[in-house]
Amino acid sequence: MLFKVSTEITFCLEQAEQARQNAERATSAERREEYLTIERRWRLLARNHETVTRRTNLVAEASQNIEATKAMAASPAELQPPCPTCGNPMWLARLSKFDDTHDLRTFKCQVCERVESVVAEFKR
Ligand SMILES: [Zn+2]
Repeated sequence: MLFKVSTEITFCLEQAEQARQNAERATSAERREEYLTIERRWRLLARNHETVTRRTNLVAEASQNIEATKAMAASPAELQPPCPTCGNPMWLARLSKFDDTHDLRTFKCQVCERVESVVAEFKR
């Protein structure tokens, strides 16, 4: 999927470059303007493909977080550990990948705002 999109970006940029070269060789101002318009359109299309690639990556990242959260939901005590300062349940504020078998969980106390980070093994 990502490979396909980046191939499309490369193709668009190649077409834009070709149009620019054609514009340089154009024999009339009118032809030159036409080629430059074509170049702009190919570059715009390349940018659109880049935006799609970025959004695809964000969606993939979000899906990983959802999967990790589902895995943790099986053990609610781990989802809301007690705050070391005030004893109230802490809430998961952030979840990120630590390595292939562990994630980094950042908890925040809603009462005293204490923040704790723990490395925990995936439970799948
Ligand atoms: Zn607290």
